[in-house]
Amino acid sequence: MIHEILPVGPLQCNCSIVGDEASREAMVIDPGDDIEDILAIIRKHNLQVKQIVITHAHIDHVGGAMKLRTATGAPILLNQDDYALLKMLDVQASWLQMAPPGTVEIDHSVGQSDRIQVGSHTADVLHTPGHTEGSICLYFPAENKLIAGDTLFAGSIGRTDLPGGSFEKIIDSLHGKLLELPDQTVVVPGHGPMTTIGEERESNPFLVKGR
Ligand SMILES: [Zn+2]
Repeated sequence: MIHEILPVGPLQCNCSIVGDEASREAMVIDPGDDIEDILAIIRKHNLQVKQIVITHAHIDHVGGAMKLRTATGAPILLNQDDYALLKMLDVQASWLQMAPPGTVEIDHSVGQSDRIQVGSHTADVLHTPGHTEGSICLYFPAENKLIAGDTLFAGSIGRTDLPGGSFEKIIDSLHGKLLELPDQTVVVPGHGPMTTIGEERESNPFLVKGR
């Protein structure tokens, strides 16, 4: 599996470009910004983008999606529980003193137990509300890899103080879904360095029980 991780935009959101070596099909996850740099990676690997997947409707993750859709023709996928948040992109932009990205159109919703195929590689969608209502993670079981959006970070978890956030729900999502994954699962968070489920189970202060 081709997997390039590119931190994009002022908040350095980790955008993932996942491709299949044989079919050259690809999905792009969280194209928040810097679409020209993402397209350069796509060209470098001679990939054809089949899906644009958004882990949640925060501007730093979704801001460049329309530009990428225009350039590639690929549909944009987001969980429907974040559609309300998507309507607030201008408000989000003003919080961050960024230029509003305009309207983002979603082609279809993805939710728990959906599968997204890219060539011979399959991602299982995990609906993990908490950071936002419609937050999802993408789990590639054959590759032992999790694209975690802003649900889980190395040593931390997503903030829950923004509209649609819930500390109770994110803790439920983490224990009920992400900590069910094998220890060797490599985690690519929405921001910052990679980690593993085992490492976070051991040392993440939000996840360690009984302390
Ligand atoms: Zn976020």
